[in-house]
Amino acid sequence: MKIILFGAPGSGKGTQAKLISKAFGIPQISTGDLLRDNVARQTKLGEIAKGYMNKGLLVPDELVIDLFKDRIKQNDCKNGYILDGFPRTYEQAIQLEKNAKIDIVIHIDISTKEIERRAVNRRVCPSCGGIYNIADKKIKNCNKCQTKLIHRDDDKIEIIRERINTYLNQSQSLIKYYEEKKMLKTVSGNTPEETFVEVKKILLSLK
Ligand code: AMP
Repeated sequence: MKIILFGAPGSGKGTQAKLISKAFGIPQISTGDLLRDNVARQTKLGEIAKGYMNKGLLVPDELVIDLFKDRIKQNDCKNGYILDGFPRTYEQAIQLEKNAKIDIVIHIDISTKEIERRAVNRRVCPSCGGIYNIADKKIKNCNKCQTKLIHRDDDKIEIIRERINTYLNQSQSLIKYYEEKKMLKTVSGNTPEETFVEVKKILLSLK
């Protein structure tokens, strides 16, 4: 099963991707995580990507498309995968189509106000990728691996506003694109548990 998870930054794509990965045994491919890994390892790609990411802008298509193509060649992708944060532009969608047959696009719908609220309260584990919301529980360390949680630089309010603008200007039009192809299902981005009930129902209906 090949799935695209689509939605604004902070809509909960990463959390849903992890839940699907666990329930259906297919890997999550997050282009954001792949890019952050390159930034951390100070690769040439990472150095270029960093400049865009820190401003809330999209990394150029050709770089992200190469990253995606390399990743899907790996062995763990042979039974499918969940694309989290890819495609984000029309060009990426076209290139994706040339390289993979996608079964479904799940759009997580969430308001701009809620995105801002979540980003400000989101903390991530730099070690295992765990995602936490600190609005209710003032948690400081990852409860899986005990690593100190971090607030992503691009989750700071000014950058998140820029990322929302980028989403509205460059990515949102893909909703219509996939709608016309009759590949799109929309779920509401309430709590992760509620959203996952809807997501699971959609995926089970495909089997
Ligand atoms: P994410 O973790 O998916 O929110 O991505 C973090 C940042 O990585 C984005 O704000 C972009 O700068 C970059 N990025 C991730 N995926 C893509 C993509 N498909 N195309 C271009 N840039 C991307």
